[in-house]
Amino acid sequence: MLNAKLKNQFSKLIANNKKFVICGHQGPDGDVIGSTLAMSLGLKKLGKKVLPFNQDGCPKSLMFLPQSNLIKNDLTDEFTDAVLVTVDSGDLLRIGKKISKAKFKEIINVDHHKSNTRFGTHNFIDIKAGSTGQVVVELLQACRGFKLTKDIAQNVFCTLSTDTGSFRYSNSTPEVFNLASVLVKAGAKPDVISQALYETYSQKRLFLLQKVLQSLRFEYDGRLAKMYLTLSDLKECGASLDDSEEFINFPRGVSGVKVVALFKENSPKQWKLSLRSRDNVDVLKIAQEFGGGGHKLAAGCTINLSLDEAEKKFEGIMEQLGSLK
Ligand code: 5GP
Ligand code: MN
Repeated sequence: MLNAKLKNQFSKLIANNKKFVICGHQGPDGDVIGSTLAMSLGLKKLGKKVLPFNQDGCPKSLMFLPQSNLIKNDLTDEFTDAVLVTVDSGDLLRIGKKISKAKFKEIINVDHHKSNTRFGTHNFIDIKAGSTGQVVVELLQACRGFKLTKDIAQNVFCTLSTDTGSFRYSNSTPEVFNLASVLVKAGAKPDVISQALYETYSQKRLFLLQKVLQSLRFEYDGRLAKMYLTLSDLKECGASLDDSEEFINFPRGVSGVKVVALFKENSPKQWKLSLRSRDNVDVLKIAQEFGGGGHKLAAGCTINLSLDEAEKKFEGIMEQLGSLK
């Protein structure tokens, strides 16, 4: 929960400004898109001019979210002097070049990542929140005239569902369940959201899963699980990166596994590494060694090395940190 002083500060910032660009990290997930839309719709209702933005637009898999068609990937001139509200982005570079290079009046940073670098002019960060969407609602509720509409509720419910692993992870706190109840009362539909998020996918996605699972290997006596997703895998399956959402969770369920690493090729010399852990192993520390971020049990980073070099460095860091002990 954010304290009353911070909420008051937020409502003043909103009252004193007219134009806002709302933006989350590149390669957006359910928390990014849900938070972007919830914040945008909330501010619109308060009479503000708002541009919901993502450098990668809205992934197809999240287009079921109400008003997702509003999300643009171009910054128009009329928003050059706007206030930028970042959601679910632990550092400024993650929102992509188009926005991080543009000039804004101020930056309001709304997030729940432990690794957040507090890059905003104003920072509203609650590392105990289940999702950034939860922080967004709390902030909007502090603004006079705000009303929780059905569309906002649906978007926020999506952020909770994705970031708590459908209310299974340790961040499924009493506050999360209370908020879920409020959202459902306001018109959120858990069945619609769950079906769209977890039970609707293309053949391409399953063929991609086949390839990625084929690459699976266990090391360190089964404590480390590694998988790989290459550009040629994507090409051969006609799939895109967002089709690989959740793949990383399969090996996490294997008994004995402490860390799962999924290496995703951006280019032969650049790999995006996704990390997950269990038994309280801190993968955030590993990601931070590479300039990345996230949470203790789910983190990521970009490594500018060949795959071989990246793996060596990654394993060296884990050994140094004693992550697999
Ligand atoms: P994923 O593996 O799903 O991409 O990310 C897991 C978690 O780590 C998410 O909370 C995500 O925001 C964070 N994360 C992933 N990659 C990066 C990165 O390069 N930088 C930072 N700061 N956070 C990251
Ligand atoms: Mn999040």
